[in-house]
Amino acid sequence: QKSDDPTLPSLKSNKKRIGFLTSGGDAPGMNAAVRSIVRVATSRGCEAYAIFEGYEGLVTGGDMIKKFGWADVRGYLAIGGTLIGTARCSSFRQRSGRLSAALNLVKNGIDALIVCGGDGTLTGADILRQEWPGLVKELIDNGKLTTEEAAPYETLNIVGLVGSIDNDMTSTDITIGAVTSLHRICEAVDCISSTAASHSRAFVIEVMGRHCGWLALMAAISNDADFVFIPERPPSENWESEMCKIIKKHRLLGKRKTIIIVAEGAIDRKLEPIKSSYIKDILTGIGLDTRVTTLGHIQRGGRPCAYDRNLATIQGVEAVNAILQATPETPSPMIGLRGNKITCQPLMKAVELTHQVEVAISKKDFRRATDLRDPEFAEDYAAYVATTFVDNKDMLVPEHQRLRIGILHIGAPAGGMNPATRTAVRFALNRGHTPVAIYNGFSGLLEENVNELSWIDVDGWSSKGGSELGTNRSEPDFDMGMVAYQMQKQRFDALLFIGGFEAYHSLIKLYKAREKYPAFCIPMICIPATISNNVPGTDFSLGTDTSLNAIVDNCDALKQSASASRRRVFVVELHGGQCGYLTALSGLATGATSSYIPEEGISLKTLQNDVNHLRRRYKEDKKGNSSGRLILRNECVSDTYTTEVIANIFKTEGKGLYDSRTCILGHIQQGGAPSPVDRIRATRLAVKCLYFIEQYAFPSMSTEQTMQPKVYTNTKESASVIGVEGEKPVDDLLKDTDFKNRKSKKAWWIHLKDLVELLSKWEDP
Ligand code: ATP
Repeated sequence: QKSDDPTLPSLKSNKKRIGFLTSGGDAPGMNAAVRSIVRVATSRGCEAYAIFEGYEGLVTGGDMIKKFGWADVRGYLAIGGTLIGTARCSSFRQRSGRLSAALNLVKNGIDALIVCGGDGTLTGADILRQEWPGLVKELIDNGKLTTEEAAPYETLNIVGLVGSIDNDMTSTDITIGAVTSLHRICEAVDCISSTAASHSRAFVIEVMGRHCGWLALMAAISNDADFVFIPERPPSENWESEMCKIIKKHRLLGKRKTIIIVAEGAIDRKLEPIKSSYIKDILTGIGLDTRVTTLGHIQRGGRPCAYDRNLATIQGVEAVNAILQATPETPSPMIGLRGNKITCQPLMKAVELTHQVEVAISKKDFRRATDLRDPEFAEDYAAYVATTFVDNKDMLVPEHQRLRIGILHIGAPAGGMNPATRTAVRFALNRGHTPVAIYNGFSGLLEENVNELSWIDVDGWSSKGGSELGTNRSEPDFDMGMVAYQMQKQRFDALLFIGGFEAYHSLIKLYKAREKYPAFCIPMICIPATISNNVPGTDFSLGTDTSLNAIVDNCDALKQSASASRRRVFVVELHGGQCGYLTALSGLATGATSSYIPEEGISLKTLQNDVNHLRRRYKEDKKGNSSGRLILRNECVSDTYTTEVIANIFKTEGKGLYDSRTCILGHIQQGGAPSPVDRIRATRLAVKCLYFIEQYAFPSMSTEQTMQPKVYTNTKESASVIGVEGEKPVDDLLKDTDFKNRKSKKAWWIHLKDLVELLSKWEDP
């Protein structure tokens, strides 16, 4: 291109032209990020340019850079991999390649770049940014650009999104694609487990992760694996005999299958690779019929799970925000996640820290390697060890501090109830406590339907949906006196509730009755487990992620059916009671046109606006190429505008442009087997509950005064809800509780509801 090229676009100062690319290994969710970037950028008056095949497209230019509009990313949410392509581009590693990239950016008027990839991609982006002034000067010096043309491009703003199935970037809890990959691994291991148990076989399963053991560790936690090999924590010198000892113990306890998970980058303490075939030989040596399965590219994931769709969507929005807020001085940021909060931090610092993991491993500083991962990695590893190995003498508490811990499920079933119970039972046993199952909630307690649980009793519960203990909605006040009597009779020193609002409410009732019934003066803790996510004290209940995935799977199928019929809108009714979380987050993950939630209600005006919107869209859609659309409606949003009524209104007012159907997903939303996210959260929370119980049973466990034979505590802290942010006394949560509508007064997620509209209903101004 000559410098006097008349097609060179002019750049208005307030309107950014944002280029975006996906690079490195593909990761599910990259398409959701692209959709979000294009639509948010467009709605903010900016232009969005897709750069195809990663940096290859940037270096080549021409047709490899294309302006994207709203409709270009239709249907992107549900598709795995990356639709704009990715490549490993060697020429971008050279300055000459980056010079071509700079020219192509300026020629297309692009003054900001969002890259989505792993640490290599982010490193390349930062080098481009650092070199930018020099590259532009060189382009002027060699006549490729005039000074005037180059003037608006003094700086290039770059933002990084981390797309990588390995979850190998430090400074963020999770990377786009990692959770979907874990879904595929868990599905595969669930399948392998049943054949392994049938033939009483051992399986060595190799999963991805060259320098990062996240996938392997989380797969081991989620699937009750007998042993795990990860690069950050090589096993002890004599691991072969240690592993065999553990496996033999598991077999003696009654396990019919053996599952070993190996990260592809697993190493021993001498930094030598640990190969699956070698592990197989060892296991064969102790008489186990052993097979090796390498999961390979299946782990690239395919259709993104709900978590990755929402993570990538929200991070895409933040990436555009970061571009719009950037100044020439701002260092290139990387969008990450800590806890429940989106973070924005210097990209190169994150990349440097990530490289330090490899350095720490090469120096055999394994503690540092583990600590450099997300803050929960080391805790997760400890929880895995504590709930998998048997007879760990180091973990035992003194005999006089051993507790009888009652465990019960209350409310509707939710994914994660069983994994939480499994972890609580195994952790309790390793500490020397006695975990006691209370079957069928409080009604079961009154019938003395209780049983001490052993290590093998809970085997395989990590992957089981529903409630193995049995659950119902009855709360203790139907006969408080008898509940207290039975608690005393069973000699419970602590109580662990796992359930939804009913579990929380039951805990409040026991807490308030402490004065009258000393049997309740014991540590009591509730792990929120309900698909509605309506329990105060936590941002996420167990079961919500499983449910979101069930909804996404079904809505994808509905959308496909609606698209096949060309002009159809599905009005889908979802659970959630008076809490709109499930509907709002499902709206985000499925790309629904609208989500009707109780927090906002529905009015005639809402319906009118949506009818107008749908009519406009179906008028615009090319004949024979119309998409199906979804409207999500929470079950309690309105007595008047029922699902049926709304569908009829849409159909009538559509005046033949489209028709509509209803679908009530009902109990399908409980989701079957718990999702990996729920399995992991369940494990983390259950371990924390056990520490909580010990802390409040014996406030000063290390001192001599703890020789008291009986647990007695009536502090408000000793009756708490445990959430992803820690434990909170129920007494403090009362003020945050909307008892009438059975939910928390704080809907932390409500701002995400606005994104559903923003991403699906833009109107050309
Ligand atoms: P994954 O984690 O999936 O491997 P990644 O982004 O780390 O993803 P890489 O192949 O390392 O994957 O990097 C992707 C592209 O980024 C490379 O093909 C190259 O074009 C560019 N890149 C990587 N490192 C550099 C570098 N040091 N300098 C310039 N460009 C680089």
